[in-house]
Amino acid sequence: MEDSIFTKIIKREIPSDIVYEDDDVFAFKDISPQAPVHIIIIPKRQIPTLNNLEDQDSLLMGKLIIVAKNIAKSLNIAEDGYRLVFNCNENGGQTVFHIHCHLMGGRKFSWPAG
Ligand code: 5GP
Repeated sequence: MEDSIFTKIIKREIPSDIVYEDDDVFAFKDISPQAPVHIIIIPKRQIPTLNNLEDQDSLLMGKLIIVAKNIAKSLNIAEDGYRLVFNCNENGGQTVFHIHCHLMGGRKFSWPAG
């Protein structure tokens, strides 16, 4: 599989503002922020879409959410609230085919999503 943009970011072949890194998970600021806080949280393993997840990925995906929660807390947006989004394929608006969680906060979001 060819490296995704996000794998290139993990490998530091493309620069980014890194927010968090451990053995399994990586987080960095979105290049085109849709909110005052907009962080992308990804598994280091390149999984193209949510459709490619298997039962054994549940721990990894749970870890992604815990990392998102911890980042929200560290950036002081936890109490006001924030939004986590996973886009999947065309109808979901996915443009980078490496599973990622958008953590967005610092403003109020409407619902239902447009
Ligand atoms: P998607 O539309 O796939 O859910 O989200 C992809 C996100 O990745 C977009 O919000 C986009 O701004 C962000 N993005 C795409 N390329 C880069 C990049 O090279 N660097 C960073 N930091 N973010 C990127």
